[in-house]
Amino acid sequence: MPDRIYNFAAGPAALPLEVLERAQTEFTNINDSGMSLLEMSHRSQAVENIMADAESDIREVGNIPENYHILFLQGGASQQFAMVPMNLLSPNGLAEHIVTGHFAKLAYQDAQKIGNIRLAASTEEDKFSRIPSPDQYRLDPSADYIHITTNNTIFGTEWKTLPKTGDVPLVADTSSNMFSKPININDYGLVYAGAQKNLGAAGVTLVIIRDDLLKRSPDILPSMFNYNHHVKSKSAYNTPPVFGIYILGLVMKWLKRQGGLESMQRINEEKASMLYEVIDNSDFYKGHANKSDRSNMNVTFNLPTPELETEFTEYAASNGMVEIKGHRSVGGIRASIYNAFPLDGVERLVDLMKTFEKSKG
Ligand SMILES: *Cc1c(COP(=O)(O)O)cnc(C)c1O
Repeated sequence: MPDRIYNFAAGPAALPLEVLERAQTEFTNINDSGMSLLEMSHRSQAVENIMADAESDIREVGNIPENYHILFLQGGASQQFAMVPMNLLSPNGLAEHIVTGHFAKLAYQDAQKIGNIRLAASTEEDKFSRIPSPDQYRLDPSADYIHITTNNTIFGTEWKTLPKTGDVPLVADTSSNMFSKPININDYGLVYAGAQKNLGAAGVTLVIIRDDLLKRSPDILPSMFNYNHHVKSKSAYNTPPVFGIYILGLVMKWLKRQGGLESMQRINEEKASMLYEVIDNSDFYKGHANKSDRSNMNVTFNLPTPELETEFTEYAASNGMVEIKGHRSVGGIRASIYNAFPLDGVERLVDLMKTFEKSKG
């Protein structure tokens, strides 16, 4: 067994080795406290500092101004499917969803249980292989908000240009491409992301919400489901997921050392284009996503038969490349190459794809 393997998992996903090693060094004794972070009160100054530090690093990395609040919540991105309408939908209001993948559909379905939701567009008929173009949907200017999923983890598509929503707040599930490139937070009213794809470890959900939206949260909501309540208590109404927040903070510091989001975008584009080039120059590999909508995070493709796909997956594993099988719902191959996935791992996969095609194609 090699010490570290190339892990193409879609989430939880590979983390920067430097982050893991730093956490390891500090695991039993953090900041000379004589204890592990896991053993520390969330009301202690030390933990408050870790949370404040993570927040300020997120602000710096993402260029997030003060009129946006940063929350560290639990329940995964999936809990946000319900929390968004619970907080942002007015009593007789309407919200619109654009459904471009599996999680987008779940978000739409859960939101419908809360209130009045309109399906503005769906690309399900095309097996979620594309993002709708602006002429394929019409948005209601009186909607309370519009919900999209910026990167479709399972199908490998990504919004390249955001829908124009005018004064209607745009809400986005950014779980699988958050901080993979610069983000203009002013384009959004709210974004949320489960950390385990591109930001850190499972257990913490990053929510960034614009100040003016907080007044929408109805007082009748139970505290744990109320954004306004979480903002007032600085994400510490109850015990926050301290360790996950700490890891997220370390990942932010790592991102800064990489040169920030512009550098990250450049590297991510380079990594993804290496794989797409193999796909585009081959009749053997067939990409799932429309070329103009392809994700830089999740590269999805098929081989001529499911049997060859299984063989390819096994061949990859025997060469130290794991978790490359497509999601159980769609099959095929998916290489998830988030920020932390190293360039040399992508080079290795490119070589493997070429070798495999030569022997089987
Ligand atoms: C993984 C994923 C989710 C689900 O995240 P959880 O944190 O497991 O709830 C939601 N949306 C997208 C886009 C995802 O990739």
